[in-house]
Amino acid sequence: MKHFFEHANSHWVRYSDYEITEDENKVTYINPANDAIPEIYDPLKDVENMVLDAVNIGQMSIGKRPKIDVEMAVLDFVKKYGLLGIMTAIPTTAEFMNYDTVYLTRNPVIDADSMPTDKYMEYFFPFGQPDMIKSQNGVTLNISGDVSMMALTLTMSDRPVAFGAEFQKEYAERIDWIIRIMRDLSFVFITSFLYYNDFEKLSDSQKDIYRKSIAIFDGIAPTYHVELLDTPTMVWDFNSLLTVIRTMFYLLLTDKKTPLRLCKHCQEPFIASRPSAVFCSPACKNRYNVYKSRGRNKGEE
Ligand SMILES: [Zn+2]
Repeated sequence: MKHFFEHANSHWVRYSDYEITEDENKVTYINPANDAIPEIYDPLKDVENMVLDAVNIGQMSIGKRPKIDVEMAVLDFVKKYGLLGIMTAIPTTAEFMNYDTVYLTRNPVIDADSMPTDKYMEYFFPFGQPDMIKSQNGVTLNISGDVSMMALTLTMSDRPVAFGAEFQKEYAERIDWIIRIMRDLSFVFITSFLYYNDFEKLSDSQKDIYRKSIAIFDGIAPTYHVELLDTPTMVWDFNSLLTVIRTMFYLLLTDKKTPLRLCKHCQEPFIASRPSAVFCSPACKNRYNVYKSRGRNKGEE
């Protein structure tokens, strides 16, 4: 699977610290903390654990865990991997900042086909817009004076300008949007797991419901371009961390030997270290066997 995306523009930015901030309408956002420092990393390196963390947060939300617990888990996730980059994940092109109107793909957070670009950006810059310079050649970011930002922008110079905006300290994402996206992932995972696990026991109409509930989710695919390396090579462009998570999630889900599984005992998602693993831990395996033998003894009484 990693081989498939051997050549990829998947680099992402995470800050050294993030915080939860409320705007005047009591909407809560996650944004980089005031004195936080940006750092570039490659999310494809440890992608299975990142997908697992996202699915787990979705599970917490579906399982009606207290809101504060779910929000703290999201904050931990963002501190580990950075914000999702929803702003570049849902438009039809990551170059949307060069146009007056942004067109949106079907997505779980904004229910509109299109809107003025500046209005769209207000969703992600609730506490102040980034410093932009408009010229004949399009839009650029004014980052003069900020050394860490200049280094970062240089590294990302071949990516759309919206990326640069997304990596500014002013960029924020609504926490309920992040949770909704992770719930969707988790829902798809649980549904597909149960579908195959309970296949024999399901009626035809139940199977139909399972199939339809999976079909309502769109995949946002990475784009690609060709580079003349040793040979002509397809280079995959991931337009956001969310695109990395979703693409890898679906690859894991559709891989016959998927390491992403639901523990037979505690029902928590886990990454299997061996092909035959059905329990997340030896402890769960033991508990399962104890319950099973107790259940059997009861039945015999
Ligand atoms: Zn378990």
